[in-house]
Amino acid sequence: MKESLLQVRGLKKYFPVRGGVFLRRIGNVQAVEEVSFSVERGKTLGLVGESGCGKSTVGQTILKLHKPTAGEIFYEGQDIAAMNRAELKAFRRDVQIIFQDPFESLNARHTVSRILEEPFVIHEMGTAAERRRWAGDLLNRVGLQVDALDRFPHEFSGGQRQRIGIARAIALKPKLVVCDEAVSALDVSIQSQVINLLMDLQREMNLALIFIAHDLAVVKHVSDDIAVMYLGKIVEQADAQEIYAFPRHPYTKALLSAIPIPDPSRRGERIILSGDVPSPIHPPNGCRFHTRCPHAVDQCRSVEPTEELVNEGHRVACHFWNELADRNAVG
Ligand code: SF4
Repeated sequence: MKESLLQVRGLKKYFPVRGGVFLRRIGNVQAVEEVSFSVERGKTLGLVGESGCGKSTVGQTILKLHKPTAGEIFYEGQDIAAMNRAELKAFRRDVQIIFQDPFESLNARHTVSRILEEPFVIHEMGTAAERRRWAGDLLNRVGLQVDALDRFPHEFSGGQRQRIGIARAIALKPKLVVCDEAVSALDVSIQSQVINLLMDLQREMNLALIFIAHDLAVVKHVSDDIAVMYLGKIVEQADAQEIYAFPRHPYTKALLSAIPIPDPSRRGERIILSGDVPSPIHPPNGCRFHTRCPHAVDQCRSVEPTEELVNEGHRVACHFWNELADRNAVG
């Protein structure tokens, strides 16, 4: 069987909640709970869910920005927790991240040249002249002029700054880039330009992407596979065409129903979810979605659904996915 570029198995990440005079641990934010998925070379996984569902924590844990509470992450078949120094250095070169807010993630006091040369400096690559030339090449690659090298991040628009963030992320020719809400802060027209740029780079470099977003509309045209997260768990995953045509989980159906469809004859009924996402400090018993699910019954409140196979590659965690198959279908 072909080895996936990245495999995540049973990933858990809890953050401590502290209180009292001595700031003792009094609970946990259960940010990520038993998350498993894989990412193939050159392909895109869309990781979708409302804010606070744990999707960014998943992305950051893959990059070792957080230590997992439990679970395993394999990169090219190797457990990243067991990597030695040299392997870790190679991993850090291969796996990069693009953040939501390019203004926050780019050092405002550094010139674009310094920002783009930094990865080469850290990895001790090239002479000063070569690094400067490579930085210029990167700018061209993301559609910016070389004269931007001596300017500062605040001199650029949001879309241009995100292009600089992308240039920095691809500097070391990575194999996997985590796009953490990379286009969420941009205007819709700029969003599609940046998404197109990412897709062009993906084709040129055979890049794998994990595209984290809070709505399914953004990931629709970029993803090969989709995983939908709710309150720390993946509730449904399948290839993109399958999930848009045959969503099974009531939460996925609600997210899909929120995508604007210009043709009124193809519009389905909008499913409005009531209430807010519950606190990840005290997630509900049984199905975590039961407090907002229009189909919840007693069983949902006490028994947690396990992932079931709908068909090859399509998994869903709902007791009643089969019975609900024809309801709330999205056009
Ligand atoms: Fe809704 Fe019950 Fe399915 Fe959870 S298990 S999604 S509450 S129907």
